[in-house]
Amino acid sequence: MLKKWLHKMLPAKSGRQTVRKQIIPFREHRISAEMLSFAAEKVVSRLHEAGFQAYVVGGAVRDLLLGVEPKDFDVATDATPEQVRKIFRRSRIIGRRFQIVHVMVGPETIEVTTFRGGDKAVQNAQGRIMKDNTYGSIEEDAMRRDFTCNALYYDPIRQEILDFHHGVQDVAAGRLVMIGEPAARYQEDPVRILRAVRLSGKLGFDVEERTAAPIAEYAGRLKHEPVARLFDEILKLLFSGHARKCLQQINTLGLPDDIHPLLTALKSAAKSENRIISLALKNTDERLRADKSVSVGFVLAAVLWPQLNRYWQQYREAGYKPAAAINEAVNTLKDTIEQGWGVPQRFSATMREIWQLQPQFEHTRGARPHRLLAQARFRAAYDFLVLRGQTGDADQQLIQWWTDFQHADESVRTEMTAASRPEKNAASGDKPKRRRRRRKKSPSGENAAA
Ligand code: ATP
Ligand code: MG
Repeated sequence: MLKKWLHKMLPAKSGRQTVRKQIIPFREHRISAEMLSFAAEKVVSRLHEAGFQAYVVGGAVRDLLLGVEPKDFDVATDATPEQVRKIFRRSRIIGRRFQIVHVMVGPETIEVTTFRGGDKAVQNAQGRIMKDNTYGSIEEDAMRRDFTCNALYYDPIRQEILDFHHGVQDVAAGRLVMIGEPAARYQEDPVRILRAVRLSGKLGFDVEERTAAPIAEYAGRLKHEPVARLFDEILKLLFSGHARKCLQQINTLGLPDDIHPLLTALKSAAKSENRIISLALKNTDERLRADKSVSVGFVLAAVLWPQLNRYWQQYREAGYKPAAAINEAVNTLKDTIEQGWGVPQRFSATMREIWQLQPQFEHTRGARPHRLLAQARFRAAYDFLVLRGQTGDADQQLIQWWTDFQHADESVRTEMTAASRPEKNAASGDKPKRRRRRRKKSPSGENAAA
């Protein structure tokens, strides 16, 4: 029904860049105030009560038009960050280059931004916006947003959408269109390139030709962006529920290879030796679409596994035992992961634990399997082993052993790990190594297995 109406809204386009407000009434867009989250509704009404303008803006309006459940709600207002801060007890101002207020209502956080405009934002010699904290009218604010589909303002009291750039039309046509002059907008903020990748991938939109054309030329500028900001944006792409589609868009839109190591790794997913990446993305997309939880550390561990695995192999070839070799490999990559790639410590810690537990699966005798099972990260590390198995990088028999072991009762487990059983062999293609007989250190059995 919405689609039918949306198609009616598709006259030939003209005057895209002119700012002429269109007011779209409820009977045409069908977005009712009840479709907003409790917090979004509350924040808008409180701002209204205090005498300010306030609209739900951006991705939420776009998603509601498309019949997709919004990920979060953003609010735009003419109140300054300080004024917003005073109205809501549970709120804080964040950001320097671009100040916004986080308003907490129950478990939700609403991002409240003040209309941007007035004097031009501060730019550097390359045209990049360094600071944008001058405030203006709603029309000016709409002009500063990135894509037409994101410059829609929904007023829940009147149940109207204010549309300054034919955004509703572009949503209906499934078209991603940059507001203003695309090349200049990418220069102002190169991250808009990654947003074009993510939004076109996630929404299944075509990137309009004018919007797509300058991307290949300006994508190199992403290299100068703060690595933490790039990481955040890549994370959004990975966890959009449409990671594989976004990956296609990276290639279609012509992003070069060397912007960020995570993007480079993602781009290599098509290569056969990096199949673990496409498998992980497929699982992630499926889980997210089924509303299941996903672990960031786990997915990152998979995306960067081919690189870690290469180091692991090198250290083993240099004579290290598997566990020592993986520790060396992890240490070699640790600083690069955290500082060079901007992976926050909480994620990199999970990645390291998952990786470091991999060689432990090779031991199926004595007390070691019991100890591994008791580890907090066992489940993630086991799932990772299964993922490796799907690419032929871990032994299927061994995986089956661990599947049986974790579901067995205590007596069966003891029987399975009895020292007289031959040990399974995990390593991919590694020949079973002949072990030197060790002298018994203790009668506990742990070191006794030969
Ligand atoms: P999502 O569904 O991922 O939340 P979104 O479009 O809402 O997508 P946000 O990061 O939540 O993305 O941003 C909210 C709004 O702020 C956008 O819809 C857009 O209008 C504006 N915006 C965000 N980033 C930029 C940018 N780099 N340049 C211009 N406008 C931006
Ligand atoms: Mg949003």
